[in-house]
Parts: sequence; structure tokens; C-alpha cells
Amino acid sequence: MWRCGGRAPGFLRRRSGGASPGAWRRRGSSACERAQQHKVGEQIHGFTVSQVTAIPELSLTAVKLSHDRTGAKYLHLAREDSNNLFSVQFRTTPMDSSGVPHILEHTVLCGSHRYPCRDPFFKMLNRSLSTFMNAFTASDYTLYPFSTQNPKDFQNLLSVYLDAVFFPCLRELDFWQEGWRLEHENPRDPQTPLIFKGVVFNEMKGVFTDNERIFSQHVQNRLLPDHTYSVISGGDPMCIPDLTWEQLKQFHATHYHPSNARFFTYGNFPLEQHLKQIHKEALSKFEKIETNTAVPAQKPWDKPREFQITCGPDSLAADSSKQTTVGVSFLLPDITDTFEAFTLNLLSSLLISGPNSPFYKALIESGLGTDFSPDVGYNGYTREAYFSVGLQGISEQDTQSVRDIIDRTIEEVIEKGFKEDQIEALLHKIEIQMKHQSVSFGLTLTSYIASCWNHDGDPVQLLKLGSQVARFRQCLKENPQFLQEKVKQYFKNNPHKLTLSMTPDDKYPEKQAQMETEKLKQKVNSLSPKDKQQIYEKGLELQDQQSRLQDASCLPALKVSDIEPTMSFTELEVALAAGETPVQYCAQPTNGVVYFRAFASLHTLPNELRPYVPLFCSVLTKLGCGLLDYREQAQQIELKTGGMTVSPHVLPDDVHLDTYEQGVLFSSFCLDRNLPDMMHLWSEIFNSPCFEEEEHFRVLVKMCAQELSNGIPDSGHLYASVRASRTLTPTGDLQETFSGMEQVSASPAQVKLMKRIAEMTDLGPVLRKLPHIQKHVLHRDNMRCSMNATPQQMSLAAKAVEKFIRSLSWSKKEQEPVCPYVVEKPAPSGSSVSSHVSGPRVLRKLITDPTFKPCQMKTHFLLPFPVNYVGECIRTAPFTDPDHASLKILARLMTAKFLHTEIREKGGAYGGGARLSRDGVFTLYSYRDPRSTETLQSFSEAVEWAKAGRFTQQDIDEAKLSVFSVVDAPVAPSDRGLDHFLCGLSDEMKQVHREQLFAVSREGLINVSTKYLGVGKSTHGLALLGPENAEIAKDPSWIVR
Ligand SMILES: [Zn+2]
Repeated sequence: MWRCGGRAPGFLRRRSGGASPGAWRRRGSSACERAQQHKVGEQIHGFTVSQVTAIPELSLTAVKLSHDRTGAKYLHLAREDSNNLFSVQFRTTPMDSSGVPHILEHTVLCGSHRYPCRDPFFKMLNRSLSTFMNAFTASDYTLYPFSTQNPKDFQNLLSVYLDAVFFPCLRELDFWQEGWRLEHENPRDPQTPLIFKGVVFNEMKGVFTDNERIFSQHVQNRLLPDHTYSVISGGDPMCIPDLTWEQLKQFHATHYHPSNARFFTYGNFPLEQHLKQIHKEALSKFEKIETNTAVPAQKPWDKPREFQITCGPDSLAADSSKQTTVGVSFLLPDITDTFEAFTLNLLSSLLISGPNSPFYKALIESGLGTDFSPDVGYNGYTREAYFSVGLQGISEQDTQSVRDIIDRTIEEVIEKGFKEDQIEALLHKIEIQMKHQSVSFGLTLTSYIASCWNHDGDPVQLLKLGSQVARFRQCLKENPQFLQEKVKQYFKNNPHKLTLSMTPDDKYPEKQAQMETEKLKQKVNSLSPKDKQQIYEKGLELQDQQSRLQDASCLPALKVSDIEPTMSFTELEVALAAGETPVQYCAQPTNGVVYFRAFASLHTLPNELRPYVPLFCSVLTKLGCGLLDYREQAQQIELKTGGMTVSPHVLPDDVHLDTYEQGVLFSSFCLDRNLPDMMHLWSEIFNSPCFEEEEHFRVLVKMCAQELSNGIPDSGHLYASVRASRTLTPTGDLQETFSGMEQVSASPAQVKLMKRIAEMTDLGPVLRKLPHIQKHVLHRDNMRCSMNATPQQMSLAAKAVEKFIRSLSWSKKEQEPVCPYVVEKPAPSGSSVSSHVSGPRVLRKLITDPTFKPCQMKTHFLLPFPVNYVGECIRTAPFTDPDHASLKILARLMTAKFLHTEIREKGGAYGGGARLSRDGVFTLYSYRDPRSTETLQSFSEAVEWAKAGRFTQQDIDEAKLSVFSVVDAPVAPSDRGLDHFLCGLSDEMKQVHREQLFAVSREGLINVSTKYLGVGKSTHGLALLGPENAEIAKDPSWIVR
């Protein structure tokens, strides 16, 4: 994977998912206490302790060490969290765009001296209970992290990771497969033309179909032009074919050395064990070297610079004449000056975040564009940070106006400064981010410190957020002009300023293709007949190697017996608030944060309003409410909560494929002390939402449409899957109009609808639909709520939710369900049904459609990408059916043992596989795929492979481990009990499902393959997103859109 820069500014930006179980289960922090006993100067397994620091604001203790013989740096963060994380980071500073660090990142994972089998990294996914395994190439470092809750697993993975990075095989064929190669289109037929292939080559082609990425890449390259930041670490597809295998090996020797490494561990496992293993298996085999990887300071400019670039046209853009992006960037100081970096990060948020910030008011509300330009705000991923601001979706003539607005806004800020409330809201955000527990906290921390540490900054200093906030307050107190002076220094009087504009060129994709053809011609023309013969033979050898059965027995593995046979149950209590509304209470160690959710069923909503539900949800908390206009409302939300979100949901039933619940989920969280204020805000939003601000509504709609359209290159496979399942179940159909489940953020239909709305000159008619939806949602009929908080906070939480519900009205008249088939279904609770849920049963109103007939449909969405996203969906069995468990294991088995090889290794796609979703739809998919119909052929071969039972017991066990690593993934205190609340799924039911998973047998797998997946057995749906396709165009069974 390759990462360039980041998207949003923030301090401890959270990834999706949330912290680990086991946290705070015990009183006191034994992991921290143990860590605090280390003394400076103490020697442990070849390392010497140099610093021990308690960081109470993050409930952790930091131990800094260095390795005596090699100089390797080490940071351990002890914390009472069972989701332990390891990472090793190398400073990788390439001087060309051949993608050498990125290709190396891929290639070291292809086999090592102790683990010489092909692709140990992917194989470990099936031999472990890891909660995370990946690798990232950033602009100036490469990071290899993994996390797991199991100590044995930790040792296994550590062993594989250490061997991979320090002793990789780096075979020539691995370089060919992962990097680039010339190969015949059909490797078996030397008459077919030679073309470029390779995983990274295709990955980067895919990356640069994303116009936002093109823009970000140019900003970094041109603002920091003197050293490594002027090149593309991920690789420019036009330069990748210049890299040789020799250069790759050389780069490894000079960069992947302990003297250039930073080790990081996090969690409650003992430090000594980690140090012992790392010293013994890796570091003891090296001597110190002088590394030459440091990035020198960028020489400051004496006058501003400007550049214009082009990109591909965006066929989904809201307005085709408005596709220009312009951004202004300023160079900031070195990120290792942690307090200056903290201040400028904060200042950047004040300048651009939310409707009260000066740049939002001046730029977004100018109506000139659709959204901010990419990477606005503070970018601290390079040695010297930078700040960017600008607009996208503008017309070319408006470029100068945008630049003038930026200059004027800077002047205004220097003159007027910021309101105290705005600063308080931001400091509140830092406080709540520190307290909110995520399940991937270790990963968040390693990413947070990586850049600063990479340039020899002090990572411990960076983590002491409490003292940074205190120092910041002090500076403001001593000098009320503190922030204004910074704006003057860094923005107004800074000649190191870059203006970059990007306009679409209709010929861009053609020109790119032309350049590739030229490059190819140049390569092919230089080949001798002998070279050609060799290419043909190596192509065959690679295919052969990929098809050969692999012996992975050298790799360590957990066994199915290492999986916990039973899961731990979460105690839940259901009570009725205001006499009628069910509220689920879940007492958890939430660290002083309260999590509130409400779900309102939508079974009375007329069908014609359905497509507007996502829009309704996305603007509901952003248009103002009660006496607050939208600015005041945004201020209150930031001051009092960690965010208030509203999202549409389709919840599939666990027994019937044609039954589901549709509704809207309201969720928010806040510090204990702000609960009454947060509930008051909800009350105002429910009772008097404002749907009048048409101008602000237009701003929101444009941003939303732009976001959806920018999201396609990254989630094309999800769009393809949603589309392909559309005609298979009634939920599939609904997902298409109104998505929101799991990671699917939208569907092609939603994208098109939003594009249409964004183009309307009069938004009044759309805005007036929203109060109609309101009538069906914002009242207390058919609502249920949940609260996750500490036990001490529960009685106050109950009072607050009671008051909130009493403030709500009933719907005016008894509303008729629009669909005649509404069934009431009780969620399991009460001691007779469920031992861990007490209180009355919650009735959910499900919609069912006994007349629904699944039908087959094949859709090709034409998109101007050089790669495809393919999805094939099959209607199978609901959650409680034992077949569901078998299909779940089967999906994993097919991915690991068949599709990965066919689609990624042989086909050259970035990814591909099979999965089963909760609604019983089985999906085969590919991601950034150079092939299209051939991939569909691979899908059907995968089914034949499964039906023939061409897998071993070992393969089945591995698939089970892999499935359980997801089933048993840690759940954050904020999210426990959520399955029961939303889907009526009790822990007993989940335990039954676990047992079904354990019981899956070889016969069961073959049986479900035959019963559901074969042609003519179950209904299939197909969707393809990608460029024009001659084969599909002449096949009338496809609908092209
Ligand atoms: Zn990659």
C-alpha cells in the first residue's frame, strides 16, 4: 500500500473502529506500573533504557531505549490494552520516482530466509488471529505494523515480520510480480503483444486516476523541490519501468538496516519478551553502519512560485464547466519543533474547520466552488510541515478571485483574530479525542508519531498533549495576539508560497495512454531476440510458480484450538423511558465519555421520499435548529460533543432474506459533564430543525456531491457490489437507493442523484421534501435508544434520556405503514430468552416482501478509469442458517486459496476475493483490475474449484482462523451491545453462530458451493465499473450506463 500525506488535520485522528476489550477491567494499570519500574541506564537484552515517562492523559507509560550494537531506536508504550501492536519503521528517502521504496515494501513480504515460502505475509493472514496486518510506504518512511490480542500469535507474527524486513529473499521473480515486467498479454502465447504488468505498476496507475491524489502529489513535489519530496515514493507509472532488480537490492541494503530502524511496541504484553526476541532473531546479526537517509532542510524561497497542471475530466462532477482546482500552500517550520507544530496544527484547524472558520466563510460560502481543495489545513507528514488552502470545482476564470479571497482572509484574521469560543471548542475536541477509546489505539499512536520520530524528533514529547495544551493556554494568556502573530509570520510574510492550479484536459487519459505506449515501444525496441526469448520463458516460469501448490509448513501458525470456544457476554439492561420508549443501557469503562444512539424506524415512509433520506441525514445537524442558526449550532456541537451524526440504515433480518428494517440512526458522544447540553441539542434538532437556509443547503449539497464523486476510485469495488446485489433481495434494492450499512457509503444511484441535485438552479423543491421526511422520523413513535457510559454515570444518563424523550412529540396522526407487510419482531431479552439482557423486550417493525422475485442483472457503468472494478453477487442464506456459517468460511477459503492467486498474482489486480455479508449476499469482487471479463471467468473457475473440493483440512482450518480473527476482533466500549440494539442479535445467538463456524466441515463447504454458487442454482447479479469494453458492448445481456 502507498500513502501520500493525509486527508484531514487532527491530533489523534481516529481510524474507523474503536479500543480494546480488557481495558480497565482491572483496577490500576499493571502494564504501566511494570513499565515504570525500568530505570534509565538499565540494560535489557542488548538494549539500554534512556527514558521512562508516564503520560497520564493517555493512560500510558513510555519507555525509550536504543540498541547498543546497531543504534536501532525503540519506543514502548505500556498501556492496559490487550490489542498489542508492533511496528518497525525505516527511513526511506528515494531520489527518483521509480517507486523503489514501494516496490521494496511489497517484495520483502514475498518470502524470507527463514520463511522461504512464497508470500508468507498473505499466508500469515490465515494462520493468525491478528487484528491488523499491513505495510505502508509514506513519502519518507516505510512502516510495517501488526496487532493481535494473543501472546503466542504476537511472537509468531514478530518472527515473520523481522525475517521479512531484515532477511528477505528479494527473488527476481518476486520483483517481476510485485514491481513491473514485460510479458506477453497471454504469457503462453508469444504471438500476443508484450505489455507492462506488475502489482505496483497497476496500483499506481489506479492511484493516479484520482484527481485529488494528482493534486496533493504535485503540491508536495513542488513546494519541497530540493530533495526526496520532489519525487513520488509510490512510483510514477512512467518511471517504474526504469527500476532494476539490482537497484532494488541495493536500496534494501542501505535502508533496511537496524541503524536506520525505529521499533515500536504498544499494549499490555511485557517489554522484556519483545526485546529478547528482536535482539535474538534480528539485531544481534548486524553491526552498526553510517546511514545516509536524513532529509536536509528545504532552502526557503525568496519569492512565491506558481504552477498549472492538468488532470482527467471528472464525468461525475456536478458541473462539467467547473472542474478547476486552485490551492495556495505555505511552508512551515520543522515538525520536530513539537510545540510550534502543535500550535500551527491548532491554528490551521481554526482557519479551515467548520462553518465558523474564516476560510469556510470566505471560500466555501462564496459559492465559487464545490469544496476545499485536497489536503487543506496542516500537513505534518514531511520534515517541514505546510499549510494548504484552496477550492475545487471552480470555473477556470475564477482562479484569481479565489487567490484574492485567500489573501484577503489572511489580512482579516491578522486584524480580527479568533473568538474565544472557537478556541475553546478546539481544545475541547482535543480533550475528548484523548478520552475516546478506539480499538486500534496502538495503530493510531504509531501513525501519529511516525513522521516526527522519522526526523529524530522526540515522540514522547509529542504524546504529552496535556502539557502542550497547558503551554498553549499560557501563551495565549500572556499574549492575546499570539495566534495573529503566527498568521502574519507564516502566511502573510512568507515568500515560500506555492500557488497550484489544476484544470481538466479531455485528452488527459489518451495522453497518459500514449505515454505508456511510447515507454513500452522504447523498452520493446531495445530488446534483442534473446531478450525476448528470455521474457517469454520468465513469463512462463512466473505463471508456473504462481500455479504451483505452496508448502507453507515453515510458517508458524495458531491452531483452531487456540480460538476461544466461547465469547464473553456483554451485560445489557433494557428499560422503558417515558413509559414507552425502550432504552438499552450498557455500563462500560468509557473513560468519562457517554455514547448516545437513537434508532427511528422508517416503515411509514412513502417510496418516493426514500432517495432523499441520505441527503436528509447528511444535512439534519448542519442547517440550524431552534434558536440557533447553522453557525451557532456548529459551535455548540463542537463545544459540547465529540460529533453528532445521522445516517440511514438497512438492517437485514437474521432469518428471512426478504425481510429487513429500514431506519435512521442518530449517534453522538460527549464528556460526562456535557450530557445535558448534548441531549438538549438533540431535543432542538428533533423538535425544531431548520430547513430554510437554502444558500447553506446548496453549499452542503455541493460538498456532498463532490465527496461522493471523489470517493469512487477508492471504493469502486463496493459500488460494484452494491449494484450487483440490487436485484437479488429487497434489501439490495434499498441499499442502491439509500446506503449506509457497513463500509458502503453510497451507491452509483446515490452518486447520480446527488450530481443531479447539485446541478439544479432552484433547490427549493428538494429542500421542501425534507420536512416531509421529518414527519416520519423525528418523533417518538417507533424509536429506541441506547446509552453506553460508566456505571457511575448511568443514573444521570437515564434521567437525561428520559427528559429527551418526554420533550418529543408523537406523530400527529396514526401513520399508515406504506408497505402492507410489516411484521413485529421482538429483540431477545429477559432471563427466559437471553441471560445477559434484562428488562422488557423491544419490538422492532420489520418490512417484508413475500412477492419479491430475485432476478439476474448485468450492469456496466462506464467510467473513465484505466482499471476495472468487478462485482458478482449471489443470493444465499440468512445469518441463522448453518449454511451461512459454511459460506462465510468458504468465502475466506476461496479468497486465500484461489482468488488471491488468480486475480492479484496472475491477473495483476490490486486486490480481489469473496465475502459474505450479513444479509446473505455472497460477493466475488476485484479491485483496480486491469482485466474485466477474464476476471468473471476466474470467478466461475473459483466456484468450480470449490465444488470439486480442491482444498485440504489445513486450508479449512486456516480459513476458520482468519474468519475468527474478524469475529473476535476487539470491540470498543462505545460499541458494545450495538448488535443487540440495532439488529436484535443477542450474545447467545452470536455464540450459536460461533459454534456453527467451528462445526463447518469439508462436506458442508462442498455442499454450499454446489447448492448456491453454481450456475442456475441461485440468482446472480453482475456489475462492472470501468472503461469502454468491446466485448461487453456487443453482448446484449449487459446493460451499459
Ligand atoms: Zn502498494
